[in-house]
Amino acid sequence: MHYGNLRDPNAEYTMRDLSSETMGLTADRGERRDVEITDVQTVIVDGNYPWTLVRVYTDAGPVGNGEAYWGGALPEIIERLTPFVVGENPLDIDRLYEHMVQKMSGEGSIAGKDIAAISGIELALHDVAGKILDVPAYQLLGGKYRDSVRTYCDCHTEDEADPEACADEAERVVEELGYDALKFDLDVPSGHEKDRANRHLRRPEIEHKAEIVRQVTERVGDRADAAFDCHWAFASGSAKRLARELEQYDVWWLEDPVPPENHDVQREVTQSTGTPIAAGENVYRTHGQRRLITEEGVDIVAPDCPKVGGMRETAKIATLADMFYLPVAMHNVSSPIGTMASAHVGAAIPNALAVEYHSYELGWWEDLVEEDDLIVDGYMDVPEEPGLGLTLDLDAVEAHLAEGQELFDAA
Ligand code: MG
Repeated sequence: MHYGNLRDPNAEYTMRDLSSETMGLTADRGERRDVEITDVQTVIVDGNYPWTLVRVYTDAGPVGNGEAYWGGALPEIIERLTPFVVGENPLDIDRLYEHMVQKMSGEGSIAGKDIAAISGIELALHDVAGKILDVPAYQLLGGKYRDSVRTYCDCHTEDEADPEACADEAERVVEELGYDALKFDLDVPSGHEKDRANRHLRRPEIEHKAEIVRQVTERVGDRADAAFDCHWAFASGSAKRLARELEQYDVWWLEDPVPPENHDVQREVTQSTGTPIAAGENVYRTHGQRRLITEEGVDIVAPDCPKVGGMRETAKIATLADMFYLPVAMHNVSSPIGTMASAHVGAAIPNALAVEYHSYELGWWEDLVEEDDLIVDGYMDVPEEPGLGLTLDLDAVEAHLAEGQELFDAA
């Protein structure tokens, strides 16, 4: 039975055409649900981050590809999770997610590596469920708001503390690579530090950071939006002074100016300034993001899909954020698998601002999959193929395995 024409919004159907009897849907649906997970396997690829690729195998044939952020102990944790999903139905994504969280609760599965590991399986379940049901993963999340998702390019320079070098690189990334959205690090040494451990910013340090922001934003002008990342580096008062200093420039957002643990400080910093503040990559699940959103601790929510709990969890966070009229900019340092998972979420949520792309210097990011041109002029078209719409190039995966890793078995 073919469903393909049901995805054509311009096709016209009569009631008779759509009846389940005519389409044979009833019998087909039963067959499609009769499927079990048979195995879960992982490999770590040595990218510009360690990318933990996750495969979910089923007795129906299709294999799901996912990714968890990032390497370390993730394969061991995923191995411990595997018995909890083998024999289960891969179409019951939400139930399996809750099941895995519950099974790992004694180990502290409210955050951290446990949730990242669960995220990797959750992404692979979306891929395999899409393949079994013959729908793109975004369809499992409720359908599309947009065909193409904006990405922003995380930029680096050899001398990251040189404002002019940053502006030159911004110019290059906009003109040569075609991006209209960028991010630079702002927790870079200025040469004026006396003690970085106290998180205090001295006046010349603030002026140096403001100069990076001034040169980058003025150089790209209307051609691109520019965000700046502080990686949780500064004290409360210093973060406020920096954010206020940057109000005169056209900053897309200032990211993680203070450490992530104390929500009250995060909120105070955000509410003290007109500079948009983003945070969220270092808190987990909807529960972890809740106060950031409901107490207006951020202007922009920044969950990491292969880390925060997966695609549905990211969509749930986006739904909560949308109730507070907050946009979502997905943090991402993943291979094409995790990045495309974020793009499917970005297609399916109303309040998607952008997805990060963090591998422009690597040279072989896209080689890991058979598809080409995943990002064109800074935008990702979301595939209409089933699942995530990507095919792992296993030769390329093997060529870039991290030390000690072996390629997936053909389970
Ligand atoms: Mg960041």
